[in-house]
Amino acid sequence: MENIKITRAATLKEKPDSSTLVFGKNMTDHMFLVDYDEGQGWHDPRIVPYGPLQIDPAAKVLHYAEEIFEGLKAYRTADGSIQLFRIKDNIDRMNKSAERLCLPQIPEELAMAGIMELVKVEQDWVPSEKDTSLYIRPFMIGLDAALGVHSSKHVQYIVVVCPVGAYYPEGLNPVKIYVEDQDVRAVKGGTGMAKTGGNYAASLRAGDRAEKAGYSQVLWLDGVHRKYIEEVGSMNVMFKVAGKILTPDLNGSVLDGITRRSCIQLLKDWGYEVEERRISAEELFEAAENGTLEEAWGTGTAAVVSPIGELAMGDKKVTVSGGKIGPITQKLYDELTGIQWGRVADPHNWITKL
Ligand SMILES: *Cc1c(COP(=O)(O)O)cnc(C)c1O
Repeated sequence: MENIKITRAATLKEKPDSSTLVFGKNMTDHMFLVDYDEGQGWHDPRIVPYGPLQIDPAAKVLHYAEEIFEGLKAYRTADGSIQLFRIKDNIDRMNKSAERLCLPQIPEELAMAGIMELVKVEQDWVPSEKDTSLYIRPFMIGLDAALGVHSSKHVQYIVVVCPVGAYYPEGLNPVKIYVEDQDVRAVKGGTGMAKTGGNYAASLRAGDRAEKAGYSQVLWLDGVHRKYIEEVGSMNVMFKVAGKILTPDLNGSVLDGITRRSCIQLLKDWGYEVEERRISAEELFEAAENGTLEEAWGTGTAAVVSPIGELAMGDKKVTVSGGKIGPITQKLYDELTGIQWGRVADPHNWITKL
């Protein structure tokens, strides 16, 4: 791998107060870039001052959403050191997304060096207050400047980072979720299993509608039968029904979340039976009505776990766990955040020290 060339910013930004961080708004002083050209491979890895990209208006990413991304965090531990959670799983998933979008594979060593070196340069930006971290956003874009629909031969992999606070500053308050019955996020054979911007574009309308109706997220149903549960907003989703944990299987339109994987592992460690399978919305509402739906929560890097307190479908409404966070949801949150901030042991080797 070529050495990463570092160009330092002439002036540094004032760092924001950690108590007022808004998710994704406080970008740091530098960013990592590396170019790919067909025939040449990846070249010119560099860290440069953070700033606007110069992109040809005909670039494919702007017209055909030739884009993939990842999201992970760097955590400040009690002894002041910095560590990352399951970074290799993120890079591995990025290469799976790349394959689906006809973007080039990026060597793990290069993708990882871009992240680690940028976090080193920006280490003063990793906050230390409780529940704060440095959010890391690697992404890859197709840049060929031509309007024909083809995969790009010129591509960039870029990493930007920003300090973030607790996702829910007022604590883990259960959210109200609406079962979406009009739009679908993804279909099998489409790009649902890839972390790509287009999936998010497809989700915006339902998200806006839910928000206007007083719900914070939508529960997505499958695009074929419009019956089976897939994800919640931009998180995977889990339910505790009659003592067992249920979560939709990775059927091709559900994203293979790393928080999902981590929760499944912890739940199995604790002796729970975890079923990854098709779950219909009807089954869930029946469980709620007969009292066996004990807990429901979303899982994702940004929020870790997000308890669900109310589910609505058409004119039916059910309360979950008395509208409060359930004990397993709380235990998962405590254990995962414990590992991430280095407060508890890491038996599965999920942590990489900077
Ligand atoms: C990123 C993402 C998730 C959560 O994945 P994590 O690896 O746990 O952060 C779930 N669903 C969608 C659609 C996503 O984009």
